[in-house]
Amino acid sequence: MPTSGESRPHIVLLPSAGMGHLVPFGRLAVALSSTHGCDVSMATAAPTVSAAESRHLEALFAAYPSVRRLDLQLAPLDESQFPGADPFFLRFESMRRSLPSLLGPLLAGASASALVTDIALSSVVIPVARDLGLPCHVLFTASAAMLSFCAHFPAYLDANNGGGVGDVDVPGVYRVPKSSIPQALHDPNHLFTQQFVANGRGLVRAAGVLVNTLDGLEPEAVAALRDGAVAAGFPPVFAVGPLCPVTFLCEDPESKKKDSYYMAWLDAQPARSVVYVSFGSRKALSKDQMLELAAGLEASGHRFLWVVKGAVVDKDDAEGLADLLGGEEFLDRVKSRALVTKAWVEQEAVLRHPAVGAFVSHCGWNSVTEAARSGVPVLAWPRFGDQRVNAGVVARAGLGKWVEGWSWEGRTGW
Ligand code: UDP
Ligand code: UDP
Repeated sequence: MPTSGESRPHIVLLPSAGMGHLVPFGRLAVALSSTHGCDVSMATAAPTVSAAESRHLEALFAAYPSVRRLDLQLAPLDESQFPGADPFFLRFESMRRSLPSLLGPLLAGASASALVTDIALSSVVIPVARDLGLPCHVLFTASAAMLSFCAHFPAYLDANNGGGVGDVDVPGVYRVPKSSIPQALHDPNHLFTQQFVANGRGLVRAAGVLVNTLDGLEPEAVAALRDGAVAAGFPPVFAVGPLCPVTFLCEDPESKKKDSYYMAWLDAQPARSVVYVSFGSRKALSKDQMLELAAGLEASGHRFLWVVKGAVVDKDDAEGLADLLGGEEFLDRVKSRALVTKAWVEQEAVLRHPAVGAFVSHCGWNSVTEAARSGVPVLAWPRFGDQRVNAGVVARAGLGKWVEGWSWEGRTGW
């Protein structure tokens, strides 16, 4: 923290897209500005991909006016080049294409003293920052296990010489089985694979990497990254997690009541009696799996709070709850002991509520860190991306259980 008389450093934060990225960037922004004496700006592009992101950013900038907002005007991307691509990967791509020309003027205009960017953007952002003589750190929003995988994967591919992706031994860490590797990475031409490999190669040129983890949760991965076992010349690694949640003060008592009906419901349940079920912000379960899960929750006899998601992007999620769950009957049968909702809930507050005793989770990394912070055991059901790697961390650290034999869609292999 600067002492009086010293000028405050101005840190510009540059996240990519998706709640899994914006939430930890917002937490870092508040920590730097409120407790570390920094001026902080955060650069974001509007419109956001999902409504949840836009609401989150509005609430963040309203509650913490000391964090300044910088607007990125992205050039349009011809999405027809990427048929069927995930909308968040498309946003990564459009940011990656626009930033080389946008970033120089933006940083000069903001008189930045340092930049913190997101892994999804790092291979294009780090060179621009270097040309400007600006230190550029990466905030890695997933686990250190995933960071070590990301740092090693390009070397694995080079040694593999065009062969298919199998189990990957991350030096100094552990073997990531083929079945746990993010689905897209089995296809070398996938947009995500191209970004992932470029970013993995570019990481060594960062001034440092901040990871939202703690040594105690992932001792092997953090140590191996630091001592150069994963990649020679890897920059300094700072385990800054779990990042502290930020609260958005809601001034209006009426909307407070409306938004927190689920907290009132939790208040009425006995301690540690409720299973909280949520699969994060960016992937929906298939209809069949949703029905299976409903049947399982009903048969368990336990109380539960289930946040149902019917589409990848919330703006497209038009189907009603009853339709998603095959009719009203299920909701009627469980209503005395369950709350099922399609709405956004403040998950961090839910996990801290004394009525919550377990978390059935997709193991998005923010969800894992929030469960760890709240002391709620996790039953892992990974669905996508890095979530099987994260589920491995959960099981290894004793934070919960994972039925590893279940693969992504109930198949064997990947
Ligand atoms: N989240 C929330 N309410 C919801 C769904 C998600 O507050 O109804 C938050 C959750 O607490 C976490 C973030 O959104 O901070 C999701 O990130 P995570 O890495 O867990 O998963 P992703 O959504 O990226 O798959
Ligand atoms: N990731 C990465 N390089 C990239 C993009 C993503 O290492 O170029 C990591 C990211 O931190 C996460 C995983 O790959 O561990 C999946 O990323 P995605 O953004 O799809 O998922 P999310 O973090 O939103 O759940």
